[in-house]
Amino acid sequence: MRATVMYGVHDVRVETVPDAKIVEPTDALVRVTRACICGSDLWPYNSMPTSQTGNRMGHEFIGVVESVGADVRTVKKGDLVVAPFAWSDGTCEFCQQGLQTSCLHGGWWGGTTLDGGQGEAVRVPLADGTLVALPVGPDHALMPSLLTLSDVMGTGHHAALRANVRPGKVVAVVGDGAVGLCGVIAARRLGAEQIIMLGRHGDRIALARKFGATDAVSERGDAAIERVRELTGGLGAHSVLECVGHGESMRTAVGIARAGGAVGRVGVPQETTIPNAQPTFYANITIAGGPAPVRAYMHELMPDVLEGRIEPGLVFDRITNIDGVPDGYRAMNDREAIKVMIEF
Ligand SMILES: [Zn+2]
Repeated sequence: MRATVMYGVHDVRVETVPDAKIVEPTDALVRVTRACICGSDLWPYNSMPTSQTGNRMGHEFIGVVESVGADVRTVKKGDLVVAPFAWSDGTCEFCQQGLQTSCLHGGWWGGTTLDGGQGEAVRVPLADGTLVALPVGPDHALMPSLLTLSDVMGTGHHAALRANVRPGKVVAVVGDGAVGLCGVIAARRLGAEQIIMLGRHGDRIALARKFGATDAVSERGDAAIERVRELTGGLGAHSVLECVGHGESMRTAVGIARAGGAVGRVGVPQETTIPNAQPTFYANITIAGGPAPVRAYMHELMPDVLEGRIEPGLVFDRITNIDGVPDGYRAMNDREAIKVMIEF
């Protein structure tokens, strides 16, 4: 089978790899029908030390179950399934709390030992805890939006929950990538009244407004903080969704949170410290967040997708086949594309 392998900075290849197959009785073998490239894939794309063996890539996918191990109960051959970006048993202490990204027996796709989503097939460990069956066929028009339940829509929702978004409140979203845009959807869905998008790309701001953003701030750094203060009567936002992970974006996020407010961070931190320890302390600002347990949110968000109340699939502005994956990475890295979907 063919799959995406990353060997180092800007070195993504599509190669023939060993066929995915069932190994454990709790596995499922999934033939991928749709996958995508994630903003978080761009971190290794720009920084991965050169590797001889390479890392299999991709953690967002939908596919058809081709076969299951003897112990699998909740999905069967022929089911169309969506996978969350982390696999989990669904039964441990943390899974029961809805924090599947901390599963005691789970893990992450790809790397050197597991299949990634950006390939033709995937061995799915702990299939019962991991996969969710979709009630539609593989060519359904809502497939792009259903694919976002793998990561970006659930991640935007997680940022909103961790930032304590409430009806009638003021929300600011730092980052106009796919997660930030889904954060706007999530904030609106949870009833926010004012939603301020911080971003600099015209097409993304336009999409944010379509998703429910009421204001856009294109300044950066201190100027952005000042502008958000102006838009919020000098007080700042109740809830800030940090959807980038840079030191600069985190500095902005804590700078625009109002006293007693919260920052929900879902951008993978690229620095070892959180800025502005003293001002956030004196203002009683909560800083929360982490990898989203998107598996926990699938059943909550799916009806909104299926019934057309939200359309997060609009974040996909480019579609390719597997041969176009390396150029898809380049296009996202050059900010030519917001998010690239791969059709198999
Ligand atoms: Zn678990």
